[in-house]
Amino acid sequence: MSLLPIRTHGDPVLSTPTQEIKNIDGRIAALAQSMLETMYAAPGVGLAANQIGVSQRIFVYDDGNGPGVVINPQIIEKSGEYHFEEGCLSVPGHSWEIMRPDKVHLVGFDLDGNELDIEADQYLGRIFQHETDHLDGFLLIDRLDPPELQQKVKKMLRKQHIEIDSASKESQRNIFGK
Ligand SMILES: [Zn+2]
Repeated sequence: MSLLPIRTHGDPVLSTPTQEIKNIDGRIAALAQSMLETMYAAPGVGLAANQIGVSQRIFVYDDGNGPGVVINPQIIEKSGEYHFEEGCLSVPGHSWEIMRPDKVHLVGFDLDGNELDIEADQYLGRIFQHETDHLDGFLLIDRLDPPELQQKVKKMLRKQHIEIDSASKESQRNIFGK
């Protein structure tokens, strides 16, 4: 498999909840492999399937302790508070200090179909929350607080998105000489 382009904010696939995976088969293993390659090349520490345009409930990660894959993840418990400067491959060039629960209890499945049951806090807990959020159709900007800051940032990103969009149309016009 190969490196896949990462979708960025404004792409509807990022704001759509992903589909539960029914069969953990070779196709899912190949998808996970491509996602890991894409994540390491970016470079990033986590990647959700909808970030590469695949609306399936799976994410990959590596917090520095080797690669991991979680299929159909659910966070069933969270507690505490943890402030962390957070970025996202789908919102390139930005980061914000975001408060989220510190400790999480994550369940899901691995590529062999075995049940996963992981308790994590701080950095890994943050990765699990960020990636599960992606699969539910949320971006880190949806977690910005207070609401005024969230609105301001979303407005700024929309404007940036429109500018990027019109710049690429402009360059297409130049290519076609119109
Ligand atoms: Zn992200």
